[in-house]
Amino acid sequence: MTLKQSVHKTLQRSRVLRYKAYKKVGIARHRKKIDLSLFLMFMLCAATFPFFIIPTTPVPSSGYEETPADIENKAAEEQVHPDLGDSPVIAARQASLAELEKRVQLGELVMDMRSLDKGDSLLGLLSDEKVPTADRMSIVDALELMIDLRALRPGLTFMLFKTKEGDLLGLSVQVKDGETIAVVREEDGSWTPFTAAGRIETVSVRKQGTVERTFSGSALKAGVPDSVVAQVTAALDGEIDFNSDIHPGDSFDVIFEVKKTSSGLEIGGKQLLFVGLKTDKKEIARYAYTDRTGTPSFYDARGKSGEKTLLKRPLKARARLSSPYGRRRHPILMYEIFHHGVDLAAPMNTPIMAAADGVITQLGRKGAYGKYIRIRHAAGYQSAYGHMNGYRQDLKVGSKVKRGEVIGYVGSTGRSTGPHVHFEVWKNNKTVNPFGKNAIPSKQLSGFELEQFFSYAEELHPDFERHRAGKIPPVPGPRPFEPAAG
Ligand SMILES: [Zn+2]
Repeated sequence: MTLKQSVHKTLQRSRVLRYKAYKKVGIARHRKKIDLSLFLMFMLCAATFPFFIIPTTPVPSSGYEETPADIENKAAEEQVHPDLGDSPVIAARQASLAELEKRVQLGELVMDMRSLDKGDSLLGLLSDEKVPTADRMSIVDALELMIDLRALRPGLTFMLFKTKEGDLLGLSVQVKDGETIAVVREEDGSWTPFTAAGRIETVSVRKQGTVERTFSGSALKAGVPDSVVAQVTAALDGEIDFNSDIHPGDSFDVIFEVKKTSSGLEIGGKQLLFVGLKTDKKEIARYAYTDRTGTPSFYDARGKSGEKTLLKRPLKARARLSSPYGRRRHPILMYEIFHHGVDLAAPMNTPIMAAADGVITQLGRKGAYGKYIRIRHAAGYQSAYGHMNGYRQDLKVGSKVKRGEVIGYVGSTGRSTGPHVHFEVWKNNKTVNPFGKNAIPSKQLSGFELEQFFSYAEELHPDFERHRAGKIPPVPGPRPFEPAAG
């Protein structure tokens, strides 16, 4: 810990202690004025009686010599586990945050993740969550002791711990790498703020195996979670037919990322980072990578992404086309308008998938569209989904989604006559027929971005150099690929 950090910590702690003391005598509301007067009084004393402030004579010795055992005891008393911060009060609080997380894991409590959009405030977020006004003010008051709430950046994600009835018990937010600020509700209904270190960690998990009967069965058996298996099949869709191209004896290699708090509570979904498949005919290696426009995609070890068509019917069940793209008479408004998408009728709560890899740019109610999601893809494409019954819980504006990943559920919100999804595809800011050929062409990373990709991939997979120089057919182009030396 640097000097600056420890000064910051000490000031923070003294603020909290003062706040508690003021609260006890019921003057917490005026804490800024009181702090100022105390400071002025201190300065006055310091100026008038320097001898009382700065001792000039050494403290007389008590005559007792400390034994080595005493020194050891003292050191043991002073030592606190680094994970638990440096104060017993704070350590106890950390335990209570861990307790909330444990109770979420046990299913006693629910945890919601909410992030700040541009222009949002914490107060606004809390009022959206229907937190009672008095609690809202106390939470903000308490957190203000730790951080500058006006400087919260958009995208910051709060973890809210609630009872099943929806009462808030605590919230935490990771403000910068390694520091989590939290506030928990005490038994008397007051709110206590504290900081916690090293709360959220990201781990990469690698699972390898051999196909026994089917890829998905064997991958699950090898410990690949089913959400990741789904991401693998979506990533390789169009390239590999998992029914006819994969045979017993073929091998697979999967790396995915898991985010966890230190008490083991998983947050967000698991993300596929790498997939490798080796059949008797070919070997493929695909790296998930987000390019500088913020669009995620899968690349081979030479930085080339495959062509990806947009899904035509992004539903996890048979869907009936109830209204095509183009001119039509509107079923409710009864006059002719241009239908900018297709309507796919399906049972209530049928999962809706992302039509291609991309980033969510809108998520929320949008007039006649009802509950609505819009995704930005590569190559000028966007897709939109309307009348949803609900969204996948952890998604928000800015979330990255992969082709085929579930984003929400069929509903009938907004101006709608029955459960269906209104599905739109946009190309360069104009709608196009979702049933036409819509494909994101393959892309070759180049220059600095390619260098960045190489160093990312090299760190991710121990066999990267082999993938890069391997049997995979070279990318066609004017200059043949030359494997790097060494
Ligand atoms: Zn429609």
